[in-house]
Amino acid sequence: MIRDLETVVGNGLCSGCGLCESVAGRERVHMAMTAIGQLRPAVTGPLPEPARAEALAVCPGVEVRGPEAEPGVAVHPVWGPVASLARGWSTDPEVRHHSSSGGVLSALALYMLERDGLDAVLHVRAALPDRPLETDAHVSRSRADVLAGAQSRYGPAAPLVHVHRLLEDGARFAVVAKPCDVSAVRALQRRDARARAQIGPLLTSYCGGVPSLRMAEKIVRSHGVEPDAVAEFRFRGDGWPGPMRTTARDGRTFDVTYDTAWYDPTVPWTYDMQFRCKICPDAIGEVADLSCPDGWVLRDGEPIHLEAEGRNIVIARTGAGSALVERARAAGYLETAACTMAELEATERDHLPRKLSAHARATGVRLAGRPSLRIRGYRSATAVRRAGARRTVLAAWGGFQRARRGANREPQP
Ligand SMILES: Cc1cc2nc3c(=O)[nH]c(=O)nc-3n(C[C@H](O)[C@H](O)[C@H](O)COP(=O)(O)OP(=O)(O)OC[C@H]3O[C@@H](n4cnc5c(N)ncnc54)[C@H](O)[C@@H]3O)c2cc1C
Ligand code: SF4
Ligand code: SF4
Repeated sequence: MIRDLETVVGNGLCSGCGLCESVAGRERVHMAMTAIGQLRPAVTGPLPEPARAEALAVCPGVEVRGPEAEPGVAVHPVWGPVASLARGWSTDPEVRHHSSSGGVLSALALYMLERDGLDAVLHVRAALPDRPLETDAHVSRSRADVLAGAQSRYGPAAPLVHVHRLLEDGARFAVVAKPCDVSAVRALQRRDARARAQIGPLLTSYCGGVPSLRMAEKIVRSHGVEPDAVAEFRFRGDGWPGPMRTTARDGRTFDVTYDTAWYDPTVPWTYDMQFRCKICPDAIGEVADLSCPDGWVLRDGEPIHLEAEGRNIVIARTGAGSALVERARAAGYLETAACTMAELEATERDHLPRKLSAHARATGVRLAGRPSLRIRGYRSATAVRRAGARRTVLAAWGGFQRARRGANREPQP
């Protein structure tokens, strides 16, 4: 039984979403960078019982619940609900070029603000100008805001710190964030009528996990630039996938290609993802309205990352998500093309082993006597059947061993 936020953090279960700060108030809980370069809640005073209970009830480090059945929406045994499936990209060349992939998330954010009656979109952006390697929560109300928040930030980001402020302001808003952030918002919506009434579509992508701030620091240092001499840093975008670009304050720029950044074992940085991601049962956005991963070009059935015009795969998880895509398409914000489940599987094949082993890993952690993530409604039995007994036992053993040797332990902020 997890009784406080410190237990969530100390056992590597925190994903860094920031919703506990929003629930408890910044004067009691604020997200702070820890010694390992992750954003975690710092509890600065005794939490009143209702705030403590509410924060734990919505925390995606305590429990995540899978999608609720919706009439007419088929549920794939591995890949979850699929109300509709397409390739897609923004029809606006600036949005398409600047964004991470095809700019579908930014195009939908623009459509919802400009044409669909929403007041705001909650997402993230680079913490410019002072902390260019870091990422801040960002409330967008205009095209300029949305473009400033486009592109992927492969590092700690706590988008949900502003949720209650927006609810109190009476704003109707959408959330664009990682799948675990979306799980937290869904948990809040199950408990809070305001959150159900005011929070509109929940948009996400697939997620390969969150590395620490140390990774970005190592990347800029590999160019001979100290973190405090960086003017701008982006992981990708301005092309698809676009270069990972460091711009120093003295004007020098350094680019690294996508394949070098993520697949070259000789680079002096590693994708040091947080422990929570290793037991994540939903890195594919099953509980969002839409999940919009990269729609990589396939060659001989394998994804390749050569520069091209950006494309997403657009998976509507709910009827509401599917209807949003149709409205945005009819209004000229999105273009779509056919996509099959086989193409989706080939494009995102690295997610299959993670998806099938997450439940077993989380169970292994619990068997080691450590607090672990409660996973509900994610078709665990199907995952075990598909993975097979041997792989499931190995995954559980891996979780068990990691927890026994303390690899899940994290410092408090
Ligand atoms: C940590 C991480 C891991 C990812 N792993 C995969 C993967 O395994 N497979 C895959 O297909 N795609 C992955 N992506 C998503 C991919 O990089 C693109 O974001 C996605 O294809 C959407 O493209 P887009 O052009 O529609 O997004 P854009 O139009 O550029 O919009 C991106 C949106 O995401 C928000 N955002 C960016 N970074 C974060 C963050 N750290 N936390 C919360 N919100 C954020 C932005 O504020 C913006 O609203 C990952 C993204 C991140 C941040
Ligand atoms: S996962 Fe989110 S709600 Fe839970 S402790 Fe971490 S930041 Fe707070
Ligand atoms: S892998 Fe899962 S827990 Fe980790 S950041 Fe992505 S969605 Fe969140």
